[in-house]
Amino acid sequence: MEFNTKLLHGKSILSNPAREILPPISQVTAFKYESMEELEKVFLHKSMGFAYSRIGNPTLSAFEQRINELEGGVGAVSCSSGMSAITTALLGVCSAGDEIIACSGLYGGTISLFHDLEKFGIHTVFVREMTPETVRAAITDRTKVVFGELISNPALKVLDVPAVAEVAHEAKIPLFIDSTTATPYIAKPLALGADVVIHSTSKYINGGGNSIGGIIVDGGKMAWDFEKHSVLAPFKKYAKRAFLIRLRTDLWENMGGCMAPANAFLNCIGLDTLGIRMERICSNADRLARALAAIPGIQVNYLTLEDHPYHVYVEKELGGLGGGILNFRVGSKEKAFAVIDALKYALIASNIGDIRTLVIHPASTLYIHTSQEEREAAGVFEDTIRVSVGIEDAEDLVNDFVSAVQSVSDTGEA
Ligand SMILES: *Cc1c(COP(=O)(O)O)cnc(C)c1O
Repeated sequence: MEFNTKLLHGKSILSNPAREILPPISQVTAFKYESMEELEKVFLHKSMGFAYSRIGNPTLSAFEQRINELEGGVGAVSCSSGMSAITTALLGVCSAGDEIIACSGLYGGTISLFHDLEKFGIHTVFVREMTPETVRAAITDRTKVVFGELISNPALKVLDVPAVAEVAHEAKIPLFIDSTTATPYIAKPLALGADVVIHSTSKYINGGGNSIGGIIVDGGKMAWDFEKHSVLAPFKKYAKRAFLIRLRTDLWENMGGCMAPANAFLNCIGLDTLGIRMERICSNADRLARALAAIPGIQVNYLTLEDHPYHVYVEKELGGLGGGILNFRVGSKEKAFAVIDALKYALIASNIGDIRTLVIHPASTLYIHTSQEEREAAGVFEDTIRVSVGIEDAEDLVNDFVSAVQSVSDTGEA
């Protein structure tokens, strides 16, 4: 099955007794049983079943199984937000005294989370570029995980997953990938060698901009060293599924960051059209990037442009696609604000992955609480505009952006 057919007819599209075409929303807190013995079996994981929606719910399960099938994992856990998914996944392998290796230039919220984790004794070592060499040099006895974004938001650095995974695995460390911006349509990090994939489903997976959510998928291939990852030791009998079972029966359940059933339903609807949306979004973004790059004085950061520093990975890892985010620089903060205000169709909003084109000035919003150095590592300058390209008609989008840029340079503003 190709991608779109699999979305609609894959084996994770479960049939259910009432024959609904879509997974029904199980908007309930708890599930009732005929006898105490039956409920005991559910609690002992001796029989399949649901007890309480923080721990498991049929709508969440339907959504988890679909993402798991697309990513090729052994199981998935859905969370209340992308940040909740990242936090839960990291705490699934780290405790006080441990270290994380991450690339600078990640999503701003994730960088802030790494700062928060310092207060719990978990230290993050940032490498400016994540390569096999920088990762190898940063590994210590305390390193428990290497964390990266496949396509970083908004820097648009692409991670060489097979090469970095190899270095991590030599040191018995897993590679966790935030693949929010890539989506399973563009790339499958587990097949490239990563151990765990995380998504903020709030973005492309939902697609309609109607609910916050996140998900963690375990690839089930990591040969855990239970002395090194002692937090997983109680789950040793599950071998390569130890991380998933720790989340399922322990950390995720206890932290309480579950997804709401209604959001899982909305995410399932969004998922149905992920393939066609991404196809359109990537082709729109490529056309818009080329049109903007042709304007003198405008610097464009988009992966399919031949001079992009990470261009080789477009064919190597991203199936020839550049994703939905592009950034461009217009010369000054004042010009950036003026261009944004002159746009007719692009909405000024702090989000990505919507079907509507969205724009923002990251330096004065998403990166307002980070240092100058962290900003620049994320490709965020005073004059950078970030665009999350939508599914509008390409001609209209190109005309809107080109006229906005031209109107600002014509008036000689700033
Ligand atoms: C938005 C985003 C997150 C955080 O997700 P939320 O659903 O907003 O909590 C994490 N990583 C990346 C790359 C994102 O774009």
